[in-house]
Amino acid sequence: MVSEDTIVAISTPPGRGGLGVVRLSGDRALEITTSLVKFPKLPLDTQRATLGIFSELASGRALDQVVVTCFRQPHSYTAEDVVEISCHGAPVILRYLVECCLERGARAAEPGEFTLRAFLNGRIDLTQAEAIRDLIESQTLYQARVAAQQLEGSVSTRLQPHKQVLLDLIARLEAGIDFAEDDVAVIEWQEILARLDRSRADLQKLVEGYKYGRIVREGLTLAIVGRPNVGKSSLFNSLLNEERAIVTPLPGTTRDLVAETANVGGIPLRFVDTAGVREALDEVEKIGVERTFRAIADSDLRLLVVDASEPWTEENTLLLQRLRPLGALLVALNKSDLPPCVSLVELEGMVQADLDAGVSPSQVVHTSALTGAGIHELKEKILETAAPARDLGLEGEFITNLRHQQLIQDSLQGLTKARQAAVERLPHEMLLLDLYDALRPLDLITGATYADDVLDIIFKTFCVGK
Ligand code: GDP
Repeated sequence: MVSEDTIVAISTPPGRGGLGVVRLSGDRALEITTSLVKFPKLPLDTQRATLGIFSELASGRALDQVVVTCFRQPHSYTAEDVVEISCHGAPVILRYLVECCLERGARAAEPGEFTLRAFLNGRIDLTQAEAIRDLIESQTLYQARVAAQQLEGSVSTRLQPHKQVLLDLIARLEAGIDFAEDDVAVIEWQEILARLDRSRADLQKLVEGYKYGRIVREGLTLAIVGRPNVGKSSLFNSLLNEERAIVTPLPGTTRDLVAETANVGGIPLRFVDTAGVREALDEVEKIGVERTFRAIADSDLRLLVVDASEPWTEENTLLLQRLRPLGALLVALNKSDLPPCVSLVELEGMVQADLDAGVSPSQVVHTSALTGAGIHELKEKILETAAPARDLGLEGEFITNLRHQQLIQDSLQGLTKARQAAVERLPHEMLLLDLYDALRPLDLITGATYADDVLDIIFKTFCVGK
């Protein structure tokens, strides 16, 4: 066991609720619990819920009926003795219970300390610990499914064959060095190259999948841009299916940025409705326009809204020119329920220019915020444009974590150097150094090796009680 302390924390969110759970982990968890809660009989059954009475220490008067579940080590969340005391969710009682536990010698748990202990005690690896945090923070069921896969160890399983390749090569080359005088051919250069290339190709695929994985974990931001009165707020509301932004027939009145998150295809999509972009008439509006362009640049995706019932304007052209260098762009030709008036020459020119430049062309969708026509298609296009790798495969087949992505890139660097060493037929000692450089980052991902400061960074992002 890593720690002698018995730790305690409220594991349910702050506030009043039907239930609230206090959790203890460590050698003294059971002893502390039975000193505070009266049970009909002792010892407590493990892995079973037992009803007990929690009373005030000084007066001995009952405070709450609680349900206690104890897990004996190593069959628990932390692999230590764990007790979960389920109270009614009154914050005063939960806090008082924790105080009583502290008085009896427990220590207040740090954020993520239960999960940290599970990791340090070898019950889960580091990617699984991170998956627990992602699961708790998931906003959509899709995100939860992806995190649940990783909790089952999908990241480590995915990396394991590559670790094995490296370990095997290292073992053979080390053996070759040890018996160098025997002049045994340990392994053919061709075979070394083939194995390195297979691993490189697969790890490269994982690194590329992060483009989509990041979006799955973090969601993405879509800035809605356009001249005043073209229907940005209305479109924003249609996308959200609720009345959030202020809709008004007067131009230039949506002065502030309004942001709201919706679940689009399992991915949290944050829509930012921007102030109408045009020559600012007054100071307040000028600030609004500046903020608009900052939000536009910071977004993952941009949606230009054009009123299709009006002729194309010079302003639209200027907006197009400003938006296109910023990255992925969608165009909504809104008010499609009205007789069309807009000339599409400019847009067609843009699509053609994209094709000529060999980039995927900007998407144009006809919408009506009034009737809802085209809204579904718009959502589809948003996902297609932002997350082109959606056919990447099963939930466990891509990485979602920046730490993992960076370490895989480090590993790839080692592999590339190793490949070069093999091509140049350098001495095995040199090749071995590169192979270790490729292996080390993979071990850091799973936490097979780790540095304390990295653990601090990871577990600091957990909530207390987890
Ligand atoms: P914004 O200034 O770009 O945010 O535009 P608003 O969303 O405030 O809409 C301006 C006006 O256009 C309002 O009167 C809306 O009801 C109207 N409007 C918005 N979308 C449509 C649409 O698709 N069809 C029609 N006919 N009117 C719309």
